[in-house]
Amino acid sequence: MDLFEYQGKLYFARYGIPVSPGGKADTVDEAVAAADAAGYPVVVKAQVQVGGRGKAGGIKLANDADEVRLHAGNILGMDIKGHVVKRVWVEHASDIAEEYYASFTLDRSAKQHLLMLSAQGGVEIEEVAARDPAAIVRLHIDPVDGLSVDAAHAAAEAARINPDAVDGVAEILVLLYRCYTEGDCDLAEINPLILKPTGEVHALDAKVSLDGNAAFRHPEWAEFAATEELDDRERLARDKDLQYIGLEGSVGIIANGAGLAMSTLDVVNQVGGRAANFLDIGGGANADVMAAALEVINFDESVRSIFINIFGGITRGEEVAKGIVEALSRVDLRAPMVIRLDGTNADEGRRILTEAGIPESRLISKPTMLEAAKAAVALATA
Ligand code: GDP
Ligand code: MN
Repeated sequence: MDLFEYQGKLYFARYGIPVSPGGKADTVDEAVAAADAAGYPVVVKAQVQVGGRGKAGGIKLANDADEVRLHAGNILGMDIKGHVVKRVWVEHASDIAEEYYASFTLDRSAKQHLLMLSAQGGVEIEEVAARDPAAIVRLHIDPVDGLSVDAAHAAAEAARINPDAVDGVAEILVLLYRCYTEGDCDLAEINPLILKPTGEVHALDAKVSLDGNAAFRHPEWAEFAATEELDDRERLARDKDLQYIGLEGSVGIIANGAGLAMSTLDVVNQVGGRAANFLDIGGGANADVMAAALEVINFDESVRSIFINIFGGITRGEEVAKGIVEALSRVDLRAPMVIRLDGTNADEGRRILTEAGIPESRLISKPTMLEAAKAAVALATA
């Protein structure tokens, strides 16, 4: 789950990471009130989950209430790379001497946490990586050992952080590491991490992604779920407890098991198609789940064909078939289906589908994954 900047900053503050005083606002009046409370000058910052807000005009300095009115009025409702701004964060403006970059993520292949640190902050880190890869220090951290102040200090020196800022940066790295691990983040990023002319080091931006698997030990995350930005397809899928990820293609995918769903995406790609989604109905899915999956896919207007790929183990072929029949009675499916049904009770499933009298124009059955993928892609690109 991705947080907005202001939520990330409030999360940082719990771990003692210094952030600027500020407040969120959904209206111009609220923005002025937040600015009055934070103290002028302030920055008015668009709250959207996309980088480069500054360049897009979504971050403005304001010296008094009139300027806050002007900027908040312009920024609220603004479209930044397809994200409409519904909320701004107004914080006391900081003077900047230097801008750095710091983040923690998990390096799955190394099975360790990864610190990335650079003295070249304030621009997208991908840009730094492309232009001057040596300017990014990478430090793997064994989760058992954690990050010591000494190791953080050494990393800051290796990144050629200004000697005046090394202590402050090291201190924040240790706090950020705690936030990342104890706070169960997938990503905790500060860009820019600034050195003020007065010598303090301070987080000016926050990008935090929380690990949904840890939600059970964070009842306080409920407040973030309320503002979470899901597309409509994802919201519907979540309501129905389905593992669904929306993608950009035109072939809707339903498979049982994450591994089979991923292979199905690969095969669709291999035969020249593009998947509209990833949808795993899980093991042991019954007719209800199958019907719900079809409803979610039907909701997506870019779907031109639906590829149902089931290898029955615990999932039984007749339940899958009943779900399809059920879905057809409940919803008017826009796109034709192609099914590959194999494994447990596949024969019985196919018999149910045949007896339901679903016309070939609505449902085609193919014996293999590859043939079914080809048929689904042909329908989607026809
Ligand atoms: P992003 O562009 O979406 O990553 O938004 P950031 O929060 O990182 O802000 C972009 C840039 O705006 C920063 O790199 C700063 O240069 C500038 N900025 C943001 N807040 C302040 C502030 O309080 N004072 C000053 N002087 N500049 C700021
Ligand atoms: Mn930033």
